Amino acid sequence: MTKDLFRSDSYLTSCNAKVVDITEDGAIVLDQTVFYPTGGGQPGDAGILTLVDESKIEIATTLKGKEGSDILHIPAEGQNYSLTVGDEVTCEINWDLRYKYMRFHTALHLLSVAVPYPVTGGQVSEKEARLDFKLPDPDFTKESLTETLMALIKQDHAVSTRWISDEELDAQPDLVKTMSVQPPRGSGKVRLVAIGDVDLQPCGGSHVKNTSEIGSVFVSKIENKGKQNRRIRIKFAD
Ligand SMILES: [Zn+2]
Repeated sequence: MTKDLFRSDSYLTSCNAKVVDITEDGAIVLDQTVFYPTGGGQPGDAGILTLVDESKIEIATTLKGKEGSDILHIPAEGQNYSLTVGDEVTCEINWDLRYKYMRFHTALHLLSVAVPYPVTGGQVSEKEARLDFKLPDPDFTKESLTETLMALIKQDHAVSTRWISDEELDAQPDLVKTMSVQPPRGSGKVRLVAIGDVDLQPCGGSHVKNTSEIGSVFVSKIENKGKQNRRIRIKFAD
């Protein structure tokens, strides 16, 4: 089981770790990590593992293992290195990329506030982010929605997390906005992410500490994905 340091502090960019497993496919499992594994519409982190002899392994992406508790660091192809279980490494994520994911991901929470309809899917990438809504007839335009979203961002809301039990979540089904992604269960507790007093929902992703860090974004497209569904895309303005 990998200790997920990014879950309690999304601003950690590096940590020391020990190799606990190397899978048949070459994925590297560490005892702890700052690498976020693909999930909840957020890409897995890329970065570098540095060995004791200073040689480096480039990590292309990070995935959740089958058991769910292991985190798999997937090396980029075509590298030569020697690594064995028990080796000490330093792991460091590509922070430029991750910070963009954090800004976009937090912006998507606010988009779900600006568009108060059920969310059916979502994805963050380096260049843009999107949410899909069950929304038959938008009463906004790209321009007016950009204004609503930017007003929320500029309110400088603090982003915080807290944990509740599965039972407490079951008692408040309204908290779950995303129909397609059920909050991770099984451990008996679920992490809630609060953005000021404007948004509260279960989420395992990584977020910025304050909405002001999101910066300027704009709604780049409102796509018709069928009678009931709209896909809303956002981009960074800078
Ligand atoms: Zn989130």
